[in-house]
Amino acid sequence: MSVPNQFYEYVDQHKSDFIDRLAKAVAIPSVSGDASYREHVFEMSRFIVKELEALGVKVRTVDLGKQVLDGQEIQLPPAILGSIGDDPKKKTIQLYAHYDVQPALLSDGWDHEPFKLTHDEKTGRLYGRGSSDDKGPLLGWINVLETHVKLGLELPVNLRFCFEGMEESGSEGLDDLIKDEVGPGKFFDGVDCVCISDNYWLNDRTPCLTYGLRGISYYKVTISGPARDLHSGVFGNTVHEPMTDLILLMSRLVKPNGEILIPGLEQLVAPLTDEEKQRYDVLDYSISDIEQSAGAPVALSEDKSAVLMGRMRYPSLSLHGIEGAFSAPGAKTVIPAKVSGKFSIRLVPNMTPDNVDPLVITYLKAEFAKLNSKNKLEVENLHGGKPWVADPNHWNYVAAKKATETVYKKTPDLTREGGSIPVTLTFAEALGVNVLLLPMGRGDDGAHSTNEKLDVSNYIEGTKLLGTYLWEVAATAPK
Ligand SMILES: [Zn+2]
Repeated sequence: MSVPNQFYEYVDQHKSDFIDRLAKAVAIPSVSGDASYREHVFEMSRFIVKELEALGVKVRTVDLGKQVLDGQEIQLPPAILGSIGDDPKKKTIQLYAHYDVQPALLSDGWDHEPFKLTHDEKTGRLYGRGSSDDKGPLLGWINVLETHVKLGLELPVNLRFCFEGMEESGSEGLDDLIKDEVGPGKFFDGVDCVCISDNYWLNDRTPCLTYGLRGISYYKVTISGPARDLHSGVFGNTVHEPMTDLILLMSRLVKPNGEILIPGLEQLVAPLTDEEKQRYDVLDYSISDIEQSAGAPVALSEDKSAVLMGRMRYPSLSLHGIEGAFSAPGAKTVIPAKVSGKFSIRLVPNMTPDNVDPLVITYLKAEFAKLNSKNKLEVENLHGGKPWVADPNHWNYVAAKKATETVYKKTPDLTREGGSIPVTLTFAEALGVNVLLLPMGRGDDGAHSTNEKLDVSNYIEGTKLLGTYLWEVAATAPK
């Protein structure tokens, strides 16, 4: 069973209709993190429901309750659950995307109005907030559906949709919904695999499939002593200074070369296999790619695989800031009475916040004791999330790989990402099936940034990729 040619022809012929669809979606400023935009997030949910229903999808919107935002209690945007096809002989794929976006103002430095899709014909780019993250991919699925319906083509799989409007604001309410809908007769019953399109290629050249994400543990270390801020002319070399203690402690967490100094952490990291090492060696990536995205020649190593593994499969510890320290211009001679250092550790299998926390806290206490300071130490975990890794040899990935090769004539990079998309882990744990991250956009799309864009070719070829993937699942998955 392979993709009928008319599928590709239809997508090519309807390129401008598909771009219009994206323009309509981008024009709705569905910013989830700002209460004054909430009505637009709802408007966006109605837009999607209408599109899905017009294509024969059974849709249910789920009220996720209320939240407090900007000091007011407001309604959360609904989760959109859709379903089409119930053939027990077909595989059932669960799709996820989000319809909310990050904030954007022209005055932030955009070259075009952020909520008006601007097609730059010369570069072939579509500029607009949400074009790449995540309205383009979400509409890619709708384009695929439209193509099948209009051509009278039977879908090769059963589809389930889960689209949310709070992803950019912590996916509030979604975890509980997913867990509630697992079980016989529930929405997620019978799902064989999950496909999430909400990330990016590693670069701007080679498509990728993503099979891992790092987790995080975020810490706040507070040192306090004096009852109030003091003057260094009066109290310097007279009292234990919280800032001196804190700087020493923070300097004992990580070396300038990235090596983490907390004992026991390294032992938690899953060992590297030859097969996995190979995957980094063949990735289409160079040190200049990383230095270009960092904006300076500051990579930790000249060894490509080492740098990629540092980001994708090993933990990292980053120092973020010091709360309570003097940070204004000028030369104030204050001794701060209480300072809090902030740092986080990106976690990889088999690290979890639960097994990392005790190691971090014990180490900080032991190092603090060595200072013989009369100040007080307090360590808190501000938030945490587990890492996720899927089996990239699973048929779900094999199908996505074949689809990429068909559409892009290239073997996709197999990547893991340094950051987190928490819903991935929720799906993997609650449904107990393989989860695939199948991105549409490129690494330089500028999601969350000014001048976010999606290349027309990524939108159109990406639509073909999503459609081809469904056919490849039908062909590849064991019956
Ligand atoms: Zn996103």
